[in-house]
Amino acid sequence: MSVIDDYGYLLERAYSKLQVRREAKPIDLPDLDIDYAANKTIVKNLQQISQRINRNPRIIARYFLKGSALSGAINPSGALEIYGKVSKKSLQDLYRRFIQTYVRCPTCGSIDTDMAKKGKIWIIKCLACGAESTVEAI
Ligand SMILES: [Zn+2]
Repeated sequence: MSVIDDYGYLLERAYSKLQVRREAKPIDLPDLDIDYAANKTIVKNLQQISQRINRNPRIIARYFLKGSALSGAINPSGALEIYGKVSKKSLQDLYRRFIQTYVRCPTCGSIDTDMAKKGKIWIIKCLACGAESTVEAI
């Protein structure tokens, strides 16, 4: 094996390790804890999610309500009540999209990010790599 081959091999190996790590790291996101009552869909662990992803529960709630085209409110115990039935799958899709758009750093994939509001634009700042990106306000 020549030096160049060696180097290429090492690079490739380093790269594939990086890939694996990035994909295999399931990022300890809490799953949605969903309950159904009467004509409501309840996301019981809104506060827990909010803390983990460092986003205001009101923003997450607004995104879920908008995405399911229903009204709702955060109840006194901090859970999100959606006035209507929303399937688990739809909520999980919304949750995934929210993370992808408003939480995850597009540069390094970390979800340890901060968000600052600047009118209609929100700035997401990554605490892992320092990259800043902007998204449209919800
Ligand atoms: Zn980053």
